[in-house]
Amino acid sequence: MAPVSPVDGGLDPETVSDLLGGLDVETTASVEVPERLVDRVVGQARAREVVEKAALQRRHVLLIGLPGTGKSMLAHAMSELLPGEGLEDVVVYHNPDDGNRPRVRVLPAGQGAEVVGRYRDTLRNQAAMGSAFRTLLLVLVLVYTVFVMAEPLVGVIAVGLLSILFRTGRSRRTARLPKLLVDNGGRETAPFEDATGTHAGALLGDVRHDPFQSGGLETPSHDRVEPGAIHRANGGVLFIDEVNTLDVRSQQHLLTAVQEREFAVTGQSERSSGAMVRTDPVPTDFVMVAAGNLDAVANMHPALRSRLKGYGYEVYMDDSLEDTPENRRALVRFVAQEVGKDGRLPHFTREALAEVVLEARRRAGRRGRLTLELRDLGGLVRVAGDVARSEDAPFVRREHVLRAKRRSRSVERQLTDHYLDRRRDYDLTLVEGAVVGRANGLTLVGDDVGVVLPVVADVTPAQGEGRVVATGGLRDAGAESMAHVAAVVKKAAGRRLAGRDIHVQFVGNVGGVRGDASALAVVTAVVSALSGVPVDQSVAVAGALSVRGDVLPVPNVTARVEAAAAAGVERVVLPAANRDDVLAEAEALARVEIVPVSHVGEALAVALVGDAPDFGGERDSAVGRLVDAARAFRP
Ligand code: ADP
Repeated sequence: MAPVSPVDGGLDPETVSDLLGGLDVETTASVEVPERLVDRVVGQARAREVVEKAALQRRHVLLIGLPGTGKSMLAHAMSELLPGEGLEDVVVYHNPDDGNRPRVRVLPAGQGAEVVGRYRDTLRNQAAMGSAFRTLLLVLVLVYTVFVMAEPLVGVIAVGLLSILFRTGRSRRTARLPKLLVDNGGRETAPFEDATGTHAGALLGDVRHDPFQSGGLETPSHDRVEPGAIHRANGGVLFIDEVNTLDVRSQQHLLTAVQEREFAVTGQSERSSGAMVRTDPVPTDFVMVAAGNLDAVANMHPALRSRLKGYGYEVYMDDSLEDTPENRRALVRFVAQEVGKDGRLPHFTREALAEVVLEARRRAGRRGRLTLELRDLGGLVRVAGDVARSEDAPFVRREHVLRAKRRSRSVERQLTDHYLDRRRDYDLTLVEGAVVGRANGLTLVGDDVGVVLPVVADVTPAQGEGRVVATGGLRDAGAESMAHVAAVVKKAAGRRLAGRDIHVQFVGNVGGVRGDASALAVVTAVVSALSGVPVDQSVAVAGALSVRGDVLPVPNVTARVEAAAAAGVERVVLPAANRDDVLAEAEALARVEIVPVSHVGEALAVALVGDAPDFGGERDSAVGRLVDAARAFRP
């Protein structure tokens, strides 16, 4: 096969080079991945430093932060930093004095298996000798009864009885074979045990139930002893995510294990025969890395928390990273790591890498930052790889990343798409022509999915004082922002508003609108309704407002712009302050024109079209003046 060159397209080379932080690689194949796990962690400088220090001093660590930001990775990395020498094996023996009190012996790593092996050999030799002796005895008995006594029946019965006797004797002897509870033989780094979400038995060790408790069929108690994560973690790291979800009793026992550095194994289920068994103490000298979100800390057993605090470190994990060339290079390395870890994914082209970096920017949700929720980003990397693999592509190209983004849609995204499909059936989205009192707003479902949400307004005579009435699922902040809208409209309309109610409705709203970001769309619809000047439906509007009509920034303009482009909108009016926050895909940006505005008048100038119809004396009203003022902004 001719070598395939990783040629890709869609982004210009300079942009790509900038996104890769100037890294001169053709594909992820030539990106160097560090040896030590701790050096593979992207960002989290503070947590990394703490973990390195805590490993030296053998201190516990509490990592607090969002899921998928590298907490378990750091805990694992810490186990690599602990010394791999001086580890121990644990062997548990039958106790001839008390069958329910198995003996425990701690040996240097590697010797446990030897001891058990030697024991087994001895037993085997004894058994071999015994069995030769027994066979001889049986033959003698048979010969004597048949030939000397001439009683074949007696012979068969005697031989049968004797062999049953021998068998029980043998099972008694093998029952004494000790059990290797913790085996660290051949291990080069300290153990890492992830006990997240384990039940008490898996965490603290257990003694299995024995249904046959007598009659020669029973399993000896030491053979039913099972180690817990706290025992296997001896000399290494015990990692527990969401510690607070452990039941209180387990947290208490965990605390005991942490304090005493040893913990006897006993049956965890009260009704099981295992509950009668209790071993000698088994060492549990581990470093604990506990993790969770802030909630987890608040709900953690106070004594355990104070132990961690008093004898360890607490670190808050970062959820984003400054968008510098160095950190972008680290993200490229991250993609290479994920490709390497998976082992089956094709390598990424420069363009595909650039698109992943762009996605990290988008997901950060803050200007000048890159996301550190890397488990999710890793998911995107794997899906993109799978897409490429499914078509036997030699490399993951940018197009695969874009398709992977569509495929790995969040629940919010799927819900919105479903809803958009439905709405298309009823033709609620309108992106051409001009309509009085209707404006296309851009809102968010969840935090990261944009959607075009039409706002309609109408003016009716009021029964009393004029009000702005909003319907269609407006959430808390919305009500307050309606007051801002009212202020802007009142100022524009002056006296004309007296004696009129303005009704505003969000049409076909799904998730409940946070009205603040829709304020500009609302004012557009209201002014149009008051003045009779139609709104251009190929325009979508997003922006919050101050009471004085200044347009204020809104969250996640990227998602809003992408939604507008997907709906077929041609121009998007956005707060000027958000100008640099639009990180939409190049394809979406090619389809829409973005108009940054800083005052409501500018927005109206873009959104309102045509001449005002003749609406009698109102032409010289304040609304008329607002429309005129808006027109003055027109280039
Ligand atoms: P957490 O324990 O915080 O929920 P994990 O450590 O289990 O997250 O992260 C899951 C995976 O995501 C890791 O195995 C790694 O591939 C990737 N990952 C998460 N955070 C980072 C990071 N800071 N640097 C590199 N990879 C990361």
